[in-house]
Amino acid sequence: GSPCAKRIKLSPDAQDTLRKVDEWLQPFRLSTEKLREVSARLRKDLIRGLGKHTHRRAPVKMLPTFVRATPDGTEKGDFLALDLGGTNFRVLHVRVVEEQQKVLKMDSKICAIPQEIMLGPGEQLFDHIAACLSEFLESLGLKDLTLPLGFTFSFPCEQKDIDKSILIRWTKGFNCSGVEGEDVVRLLREAIHRRGDYDISSVAMVNDTVGTMMSCGYRDQSCEIGMIIGTGTNACYMEEMKNVKRVEGEAGRMCINTEWGGFGDNGSLKDIQTEFDVEVDRSSLNPGVHTFEKMISGMYLGEVVRLVLIKLAQQNMLFGGKVSEALEKPDAFETRYISEIEEDVNGLDRAQKILTELELPAGPEDCEIVHLVCSTISTRSAELCAAALATIANRIRNNRGLDHLRTTVGVDGTVYKKHPMFSKRLHDTVKILAPKCDISFLVSEDGSGKGAAMVTAVAQRLAMQSRL
Ligand code: BGC
Ligand code: MG
Repeated sequence: GSPCAKRIKLSPDAQDTLRKVDEWLQPFRLSTEKLREVSARLRKDLIRGLGKHTHRRAPVKMLPTFVRATPDGTEKGDFLALDLGGTNFRVLHVRVVEEQQKVLKMDSKICAIPQEIMLGPGEQLFDHIAACLSEFLESLGLKDLTLPLGFTFSFPCEQKDIDKSILIRWTKGFNCSGVEGEDVVRLLREAIHRRGDYDISSVAMVNDTVGTMMSCGYRDQSCEIGMIIGTGTNACYMEEMKNVKRVEGEAGRMCINTEWGGFGDNGSLKDIQTEFDVEVDRSSLNPGVHTFEKMISGMYLGEVVRLVLIKLAQQNMLFGGKVSEALEKPDAFETRYISEIEEDVNGLDRAQKILTELELPAGPEDCEIVHLVCSTISTRSAELCAAALATIANRIRNNRGLDHLRTTVGVDGTVYKKHPMFSKRLHDTVKILAPKCDISFLVSEDGSGKGAAMVTAVAQRLAMQSRL
């Protein structure tokens, strides 16, 4: 059998090393006190982001979304949806059915986006998107319909209106030229017109957090927070209009895309950043940008683990002091390995297979140490997310002058959904940090796609009502 399959009793020497590693990992462990501090810092940054004059230099952007209402259950119709910026690029045909209070995914298609397109000229990206949509419509015989389209675009955008949205900057793996500072809806429409083989009617632009909130909102009308912990991380929530200083009007609420990934970009998280976080940032596509995200999300977690493993080996605490060439390659340790290694039953077995594939020694002691590193780094991620979510929940409670808030968070993202312990750790920590908030978590299925359609549907309902 494999040495890692069962928890083998380690030799006293090995136990000693494990204890040393455990101590060495201390900088990754955040006390409840520290998490409260982090939450308090974010609370101030949310206010700065909302302010008319403080906004410009705020690390947490707090972007108005022009989504003023969550679904009321009377929306209906057929829509197209695009979902760009997560693990996959997808096109969908979605039907909102009033009687069943349901958003049905009729059809969908995943289109690959090759890396040269992710890093190439923007025009090429939008031509590629328009081509995927064309193929999809062609295959369904929908080309002549001219449907409204919900566009989930999971990057920070300054929205001027629901259908005008300027990309502030690329994040995650994208870096196309000529798109930052431009209206993404215009770029999409132009690409569709360049083809000339189909057209779309109205467009609603949404961030994936907003799509996730809106798609859960059809099922649960108290859903007023959307959170993503996937390739990137972010959240949105319903803020009082009177606090949204950058948009006219005092009445009602508007959904704010916090872009919490940018938390720490002014140096406010220096005390909890480790040398490994600094290195991951330095070697990323966008150094200095999205500090918080780089400690949390799927695009980076595996890389943090990889750097820690290398350092442990160099310090003679792991792999007999040797690092393989395979492990030296950037991104060689994928984030999904963390989920697999932390799996309760087969985790150590998986660890052994993964390490062997990476040409590393995989004795019981190595497997235990790698497991410890993974769980320490994924726990930090869950707890940091919990601190940020607690900040938002506490803010909503204060906004409404409530002693106790009951609310629902729509959640999506591979890290939250696939990691065996992530959600529980997050829930437990939020309870501690927001004791007066009773938060339910609703995992969204196809949230970004369906939610974009939902935003389009709500916008149509509101437009109809105002015409009556
Ligand atoms: C983007 C956000 C997005 C998040 C999750 C971040 O990198 O800036 O707009 O919501 O990733 O996809
Ligand atoms: Mg998504």
